Amino acid sequence: MNILFLTLTPVIGIAGTAAYTWYAGFHLWMPILMVAMYGAVGISICAGYHRFFSHKSYEAAWPVQLFYAFFGAMAAQNSILWWSSSHRVHHKYADKDWDPYNIRRGFWWAHILWIFYRNDQRDDTFANAPDLLANKIVMWQHRWHKAILIVGGFGVPTLIGAAFGDPIAGLLWGGFARIVVIHHTTFFVNSLAHTLGKPVFNAEASARDNWLVALVTLGEGYHSFHHRFPADFRNGIRWYQWDPAKWWIGALRLTGLAKSLIATPAPQIEQARMRAAIGLVQEKIATARGTIADEARRRLNVATRHLERAVALWRAGLEARAQGFATWRQQTRLSKRHVRRSRRHWKRAVRMLEQAA
Ligand SMILES: [Zn+2]
Ligand SMILES: [Zn+2]
Repeated sequence: MNILFLTLTPVIGIAGTAAYTWYAGFHLWMPILMVAMYGAVGISICAGYHRFFSHKSYEAAWPVQLFYAFFGAMAAQNSILWWSSSHRVHHKYADKDWDPYNIRRGFWWAHILWIFYRNDQRDDTFANAPDLLANKIVMWQHRWHKAILIVGGFGVPTLIGAAFGDPIAGLLWGGFARIVVIHHTTFFVNSLAHTLGKPVFNAEASARDNWLVALVTLGEGYHSFHHRFPADFRNGIRWYQWDPAKWWIGALRLTGLAKSLIATPAPQIEQARMRAAIGLVQEKIATARGTIADEARRRLNVATRHLERAVALWRAGLEARAQGFATWRQQTRLSKRHVRRSRRHWKRAVRMLEQAA
């Protein structure tokens, strides 16, 4: 059934849509319908299935959860319960045998082939998701997700197409083509984002930061960061990093529909980056010429001291904030300054070691 669905949708969605549009004519509403549905369904997977239900990186009001449950089902990626439970296994055993989409079994396995095989390790009791088993919206969706997919994912775009005088075009653009795009961009997170890019936050793990994947998945491409700090509501931490799911969650907070967003403190993030970078040049510290190794070691020490200072200031800032003191802003600012200084030193050290023969 899975094999049939996943092989037929690209044929109908890409070739079928192209051929039909060629014969029946193209209208602007067709791509608009597709992009609008891609937006609603895609955000329900990224900000909903993934960051809210799987990782609990923020709290969301029930209308938001209902939105995610409804549009998420239209992605044809199974129910929230099933998806989030597998995803938690992926994080727990990443790159190991139990990881359902283990990249060590190859690119295509992680991309799509894993779906075609029954996973013997899985008992489907969802023991790792007691919070979801207790969530009424999740359990309702688990029961009805296939019906929502058929009625909402295929029926609604057909009706919208009918309103424009071409129900088949509606079904093809808003149903099949849209599903193919969402499927494979989501799959890229498991395949490409574990293959291409930089392991910025953990040198030993396969997860990579990849802006290209971020671009097509509403922000899920900063995967090295995500595997290091899975509870963070952001994936792209810098303001310029493409992460619409992060902006969406931020907007929900402004409207009061989301709260308690989890964000990793800046010094902690910097520490992970530094360790990952040092990990990559570890051998050179031992083999580089004495003076270079000494200078690199000295700089790493300075960097570590700045980071320790940054952590202390950050903690003090948090405490001050909790007690209502206005000094927290200044402490946080100072902490960030130490983070930047630390970065200057450790980057310098790593570069020296990289260039050392
Ligand atoms: Zn992953
Ligand atoms: Zn995740």
